[in-house]
Amino acid sequence: MTALQPQSAAAPAVRSVSVLGATGSIGKSTVDLLAGHRDRFRTEALTGHKNVTLLAEQARKLGAAIAVIGDESLYGELKAALAGSGTEAAAGAQAVIDAAAHPADWTMAAIVGTAGLKPTLAAIGQGRTVALANKESIVAAGPLMLAAVRQSGATLLPVDSEHNAVFQVLNPEQRGGLARIILTASGGPFLRKTRAELAGITPAEAVRHPNWAMGAKISVDSATMMNKSLEIIEASYLFEVPDEKIDVLIHPQSIVHSMIEYIDGSILAQMGAADMRTPIAHTLGWPARIATTGQRLDLSGALSMQFEPVDMARFPAINLARAAVRAGAGHPVVLNAANEVAVEAFLGGRLSFDKIENLAGEALQRADIGRISGMDDVIALDAAARAIAENALRALQ
Ligand code: NAD
Ligand code: MG
Repeated sequence: MTALQPQSAAAPAVRSVSVLGATGSIGKSTVDLLAGHRDRFRTEALTGHKNVTLLAEQARKLGAAIAVIGDESLYGELKAALAGSGTEAAAGAQAVIDAAAHPADWTMAAIVGTAGLKPTLAAIGQGRTVALANKESIVAAGPLMLAAVRQSGATLLPVDSEHNAVFQVLNPEQRGGLARIILTASGGPFLRKTRAELAGITPAEAVRHPNWAMGAKISVDSATMMNKSLEIIEASYLFEVPDEKIDVLIHPQSIVHSMIEYIDGSILAQMGAADMRTPIAHTLGWPARIATTGQRLDLSGALSMQFEPVDMARFPAINLARAAVRAGAGHPVVLNAANEVAVEAFLGGRLSFDKIENLAGEALQRADIGRISGMDDVIALDAAARAIAENALRALQ
């Protein structure tokens, strides 16, 4: 593997760790694993955005050195909640970035959306190990992130279950023999619904994923398959494979988390229960393994697995992503930003479910997409795409 560099030094006995986005779905699973292995990990920083109570509880449980709340107005509340704990309190967007830059052997990047861009980049800048869950940051700034990985010498380990699966089965020595990556997709809660049936979907229905318990944004993305679309871009950047060599296959049981095919016809899959603690633990223990107490795949009963092609007319997001990644680095920025606006609008009752992909497609058509030469270009284009999506949203109302 070229972009994902192997760790050279032997891992120390007790590793220092930080969790960005500790109060979210991935963050909570990470804290859970750390709490089960207190003897092996020392917690430096935990960050959250609004949930002071949970953040303080997690900091006390792990004996964190510092806890940071993104929303600056909550500083007093956090400080009070941490009184007598020995954990330092901090608040604000810059404090989150500073915590990400604070040395830790392993950092989990699990902030949702482009809000995670700067913190994830700061964690990479440390030159240590970053477990990457925050897919939007790699979608929006993949080439820049990977350049930063090379420059700092960091080890970037994918947490997203599909990419983690590919990472687990792709032998770096056989990289030249890779024929294609096959990303599996559950199809989400509305796989069998026609497009016409999607108009009346409520946020409560859309966040109820059949197999995975996840945060609201990624659950909606799974229902539109924008999640798989972002994952095509994520895979293309992380594994340095063109999108033509990345297929998507519907697999409603979420048992196979993804596959690779070599040029000799061998197909390798990684399987397991639909529990993010497994890929998180893989990155936490890497290059060794650590035990989890999470769900196990039960192979003792009748196990049935189905695979079927994606209906592209039903899930237009997939082709939007393919076109975006082929068109160049600015296009994924716009797709990702407009999708974030659309999902937020849907969750807030301002946009119907079936219009989410339209808004992203419209922003891609309207945006003036130039070259991306640095993070400032990404941030400016992200803001422009959000404004276009907001305008398109108002026009729909
Ligand atoms: P979540 O919404 O449950 O948690 C998001 C976290 O980010 C929370 O800790 C929240 O406090 C923090 N956050 C939100 N806005 C912030 C801001 N402006 N500044 C600082 N912190 C902020 O989301 P999640 O499901 O845990 O997903 C996290 C990331 O991992 C996403 O990028 C998602 O795509 C990715 N991911 C999640 C899963 C999953 O199973 N949940 C699987 C694969 C990838
Ligand atoms: Mg995934």
